[in-house]
Amino acid sequence: MNQPPKVVVIGSLNMDLVVKARRAPKRGETVMGDEIHFIPGGKGANQAVGLARLGAEISMIGAVGSDSFGRELKRALKKTGVNITGVKEHDSQATGVASILLAEGDNSIVVVPGANALCLPEDLEDNERMIAEADLVLLQLEIPLATVEYGIQLAKKHGKIVMLNPAPAQSLSQELLSQVDYLTPNRSELALLAGMPEESSVAQGINRLLDTGVTCCVTTLGAEGAAFMEKEGSITKILGHQVPVVDTTGAGDAFNAGLAYALAQQKSIREAAEFAVEVSALAVTKFGAQGGMPRLREVEEHFT
Ligand code: ADP
Repeated sequence: MNQPPKVVVIGSLNMDLVVKARRAPKRGETVMGDEIHFIPGGKGANQAVGLARLGAEISMIGAVGSDSFGRELKRALKKTGVNITGVKEHDSQATGVASILLAEGDNSIVVVPGANALCLPEDLEDNERMIAEADLVLLQLEIPLATVEYGIQLAKKHGKIVMLNPAPAQSLSQELLSQVDYLTPNRSELALLAGMPEESSVAQGINRLLDTGVTCCVTTLGAEGAAFMEKEGSITKILGHQVPVVDTTGAGDAFNAGLAYALAQQKSIREAAEFAVEVSALAVTKFGAQGGMPRLREVEEHFT
């Protein structure tokens, strides 16, 4: 059997508090809710779990508070086989929380980054060996930008593949983008990063990002699948799979996990994008972001 690919995820860990109520409270009002769920989340942790389920050797660098949520998040990662020695506990901040209210078919979300804001460049220095031993380094934007920049710099120094999932959307400097090998925005992140309206074509948006120096841009297109383009290449679309959709939360995280898994094994971008579309299609057939991440065997059985 081939060696499993080694991936380091530098990113966020959150506890998602999901409250279901018949209706949302008006300002100043109290309403009774029906259900509450505590679900491990955070884009970094979700992508790490996705990679671990696929069979990657995966290490996570991040931060939680020294509280019960932090311990629970670390336990959930460890259980799936993620190396959590790079996840630091802090006394001065609570674990990051996403408070999600589901009411009247709508959701409203408040995210408090908490300890994620304390994931700092020096934490990466402490774990430089982990980065040096990886095949690929995967980052998102739920930790301080200075840490993301430094993570990319360290990964480059050690000649690693750098993959950045630019979520949640924020504009990024050309200096940062020019060091990214694979940039993976969804449709709205692509529009924001390219500084174009969402109605403009995917190819136009991607072209603009390639002009900044990104080597390859892979855009997810929801149920339609994904599209990618490399420098001096032309746009290639990978059609989405028709599946019975249960929950699209974390679809993007599953896609990023699949893409990183295949790229870390030196697969071509076309093969990697096809695999990522399969992984994310299976993920939306199950409930929960981390809970929905498929195992490699499930992907192989379903799509061969
Ligand atoms: P995000 O969750 O970041 O907004 P997308 O909605 O673009 O990202 O979804 C990411 C990937 O998940 C898509 O590229 C696609 O492969 C898969 N996906 C999302 N929604 C569906 C769906 N309804 N049916 C099948 N696949 C889906």
